[in-house]
Amino acid sequence: MKLHDLEFKPFIRAKEIEQTVNRMVTEIANDLKDEIPVFVGILNGSFMFVSDFVKAYPKPCEVTFIKLASYEGVKSTDDIQRLIGLTQDLTGRTVVILEDIIDSGKTLAEVHRIFKNENVKELKIATLFYKPEAYKKDFKLHYVGIEIPTKFIVGYGLDYSGLGRDLPEVYQLKTTQHMTNLV
Ligand code: 5GP
Repeated sequence: MKLHDLEFKPFIRAKEIEQTVNRMVTEIANDLKDEIPVFVGILNGSFMFVSDFVKAYPKPCEVTFIKLASYEGVKSTDDIQRLIGLTQDLTGRTVVILEDIIDSGKTLAEVHRIFKNENVKELKIATLFYKPEAYKKDFKLHYVGIEIPTKFIVGYGLDYSGLGRDLPEVYQLKTTQHMTNLV
């Protein structure tokens, strides 16, 4: 697959993603027992994960989104902006962050900063994809879907310059000359 000047190879099949999402649903539903959690998706990348996740979630839940931005092209930047914030009172609620991918952890640090002042009962972090070799923070990741190497991926909500979010499977960047730019 080619997006702009970059070539991508198939990396994670739709079936494996589906099984992973279902496993995460089961783990989280079992842990939260009778709580009615608030699932908070981090836009844009998590939209497909959140959609599939809450459709499979077997108990009542609330769903909302926040929008942050830290990526330009294939490189994570230090400048994280909050584009859409929280609009509801989360006092005393169990909140589960649904992240598409955790790379350096900068976005996650911003998420923690946002939720520090929200008086939530409990904040849990769930990420569908995780790059352990790139992760530079100490925040606990409570639920991890699939660990991947520090390479740029596209599909299932994740884009390259706006393209590829719609793909039901995940592709990995092939072109090695770009790897040195990756975090
Ligand atoms: P972090 O702040 O952990 O470095 O990066 C988190 C955000 O960067 C993710 O929410 C996602 O938007 C973006 N990101 C990180 N790695 C990748 C990747 O491999 N592919 C794409 N398309 N986006 C990524």
